[in-house]
Amino acid sequence: IATKLPKVGTTIFTVMSQLAAEHGAVNLGQGFPDFPVPERLIDALDRAMRAGHNQYSMMTGIPALRQAIAAKTERCYGYRPDVNAEITVTSGASEAIFDAIHAVVRAGEEVIVLDPCYDCYEPAIDLAGAKAVHVALDPLTFAPDWNAVRAAITANTRMLMINSPHNPSGAMLSEADMRELIDILDGTGIILLSDEVYEHIVFDGARHESVLRYPQLRERAFVVSSFGKTYHCTGWKLGYAVAPPALSAEFRKVHQYNTFCTFAPAQHAFAEMIEQEPEHYEQLGAFYEAKRDRFREQLLTTKFKPLPVPGGYFQLVDYSAISDLDDIDFCRWLTIEHGVTAIPLSPFYETPPSGQRLARLCFAKNEATLDAAIERLQKL
Ligand code: PMP
Ligand code: GLN
Repeated sequence: IATKLPKVGTTIFTVMSQLAAEHGAVNLGQGFPDFPVPERLIDALDRAMRAGHNQYSMMTGIPALRQAIAAKTERCYGYRPDVNAEITVTSGASEAIFDAIHAVVRAGEEVIVLDPCYDCYEPAIDLAGAKAVHVALDPLTFAPDWNAVRAAITANTRMLMINSPHNPSGAMLSEADMRELIDILDGTGIILLSDEVYEHIVFDGARHESVLRYPQLRERAFVVSSFGKTYHCTGWKLGYAVAPPALSAEFRKVHQYNTFCTFAPAQHAFAEMIEQEPEHYEQLGAFYEAKRDRFREQLLTTKFKPLPVPGGYFQLVDYSAISDLDDIDFCRWLTIEHGVTAIPLSPFYETPPSGQRLARLCFAKNEATLDAAIERLQKL
């Protein structure tokens, strides 16, 4: 049949996880933790199901969870979103991103994305009949070139998407970046979609520059997050979007016919977890920073050159001292011949920088998993 998504195949994460399984490789490709979710969360989920919270929840999410999100947002970013009008619980950040785009972007309009970017953005834009306009981040630092963003804006630009901490690079937007953004968007009708799923995984004492800290940005923004990243449960697929009332109202028109509501027992579990164990998200940065530091030390005993990782749980490595293969062939070869799976960067780009020799390794893993990978990488 005539496909609506001619550019889309199977996601690189699925392709590489399948290849890893076929070849018994240590899978540092697809981003997911291999350690358990907090005990309290499992207990709370179990209790919620036994207490009978097994039917449709409110379309917007249970009040207790929206309350917990509002309180946590205020603690973290100094802004308390309205519980009823500004928070919507979704089936992962993926659903929130899809709903936000479909709620406001019309056919023929343009959405600016910064390459490399996460793979679910462009298909959602395409399905809306809109056009993704790709602006490249710096190939070494992955910092935005705000003048290039300014130059990409047209009368047709409806939305700008940002992602900090950034997948795949871990780069973070600075306060100066946020000031640039305010300046760029001022006086335009452009809506901001801010993907902040790694908001709590930030290192070296840095502050996460949430869009929610900035009134001039949040008044025109959807801010999206995911409990999967914060609570080590990517398979639970629960997230949320915060947006001003008028944007949330449009968002909910899509959400209510897309999924209507999300897995009710987990909403109860997260409400309890957020309120009663704030240490979990407060200490998440330190937890992952220790993993990052240990993994980077180990990488120095290999021929891979690690790039800086300000946030998130991915380590980019330059493999040019090992191979001149392009990144897709290199990641296949590494899996098949050396038993370690990484994710190539080129699928995150419309036009990958020529000659780029980078691969992404996920360090959200037990020490034993990372040790096993390093032992194999040392042989290269
Ligand atoms: N955005 C980014 C940058 C991500 O890395 C991910 C998860 N890999 C998502 C969105 C989707 O999150 P979720 O699994 O909650 O749908
Ligand atoms: N977000 C995960 C990553 O970047 C992948 C999620 C998925 O497989 N859809 O690795």
